[in-house]
Amino acid sequence: MTTYRITLLPGDGVGPEVTAAAVTVLEATGIDFEWDTLEIGESAIEKHDTPLPEAVLESLRKNKIGLKGPVTTPIGSGFRSVNVALRQKLDLYACVRPARSIAGEGTRYENIDLVVIREATEGLYSGVEHWVDRNHDAAETINIITRKNSERIVRYAFEYARREGRKKVTGVHKANIMKLTGGLFQEVFRNVAKNYPDIVSEERLIDNMCMQLVKKPEEYDIIVTTNLFGDIISDLTSGLAGGLGIAPGGNIGDEIALFEPVHGSAPKYAGQDKVNPVAEILSGELMLKHLGKREAAEKIWNAVREVIKEKKVVTYDLALPGYTLRPVSPSKTSEMAAEIARKVEKM
Ligand code: NAD
Repeated sequence: MTTYRITLLPGDGVGPEVTAAAVTVLEATGIDFEWDTLEIGESAIEKHDTPLPEAVLESLRKNKIGLKGPVTTPIGSGFRSVNVALRQKLDLYACVRPARSIAGEGTRYENIDLVVIREATEGLYSGVEHWVDRNHDAAETINIITRKNSERIVRYAFEYARREGRKKVTGVHKANIMKLTGGLFQEVFRNVAKNYPDIVSEERLIDNMCMQLVKKPEEYDIIVTTNLFGDIISDLTSGLAGGLGIAPGGNIGDEIALFEPVHGSAPKYAGQDKVNPVAEILSGELMLKHLGKREAAEKIWNAVREVIKEKKVVTYDLALPGYTLRPVSPSKTSEMAAEIARKVEKM
């Protein structure tokens, strides 16, 4: 039997709880995993004096695949985002975030099935920032857009559409105002789209895109965009599909892939065995698809759907009244994961 060696990065905040939940469910598929577990974020600083030890990068370069929990990033000052650094250092240029409504729970919309594909190495997250004057009364962040990186992300989106049997790719930008950076992304999008006559292509300005998504999300399929816009839109599409508790993601490069939920470390819930493990579990499902283990991935998806539909063992965010008429008492993270794992084993 093949053993899959995976770099496991539990992260901090609720990260260790949700990654433990995902490991339980992934192991229930019967696939043989060997976990190379390493610390990142706040816990790594205490021991290694850095939130991103070199050993983490080495492990990912060796194993080529990883599953990650969220990591806290201090606001305004302090260390640089570990997430942004991982994507840049390992050239994980495609941030892929599917938003699928699960059994209609937690959402006003029934049939959300969108994928946001976000360029993850440049744009306004380039990390190139400086003060404009000595008094620190003005600052600049440089929005770097290159032809090479725009081409590879747009091509990735169209190839993804073909591979997954999708029909349409929408390119999102703000080329009317940011004429050079937005204009370059728009030009590249149009040129690449010509090579995929089998896939419908269209463009939207970012502001209009937000309004359209809220009004008629069913008209969209794959959305490809630059770094900041993609970060914001993918939270919006997570909300459409049922919230951060169920939104998975992957950071994909040509050689290495690292899967993680869209949500952050939710520090106020850390250590309470309370938050929804589904976003991390479905990040594991995306990892299985990436490994070519589609049957096992399908089992996880179906088990998650059943558990959410039954609504007997769900965490607080899905137990609430509001969009559903059946409020239930909330289960713990570990209980929901165990229930999903039980169903996976039976499938
Ligand atoms: P957050 O995603 O941690 O929390 C936002 C809200 O969503 C909270 O109200 C929380 O209650 C809810 N939530 C999040 N995950 C949930 C889950 N699994 N189940 C149920 N509810 C859930 O966002 P934030 O508060 O803006 O950020 C907290 C920290 O996480 C910050 O330091 C931020 O930089 C970091 N962050 C990390 C990542 C990452 O590691 N990939 C992503 C986003 C934010």
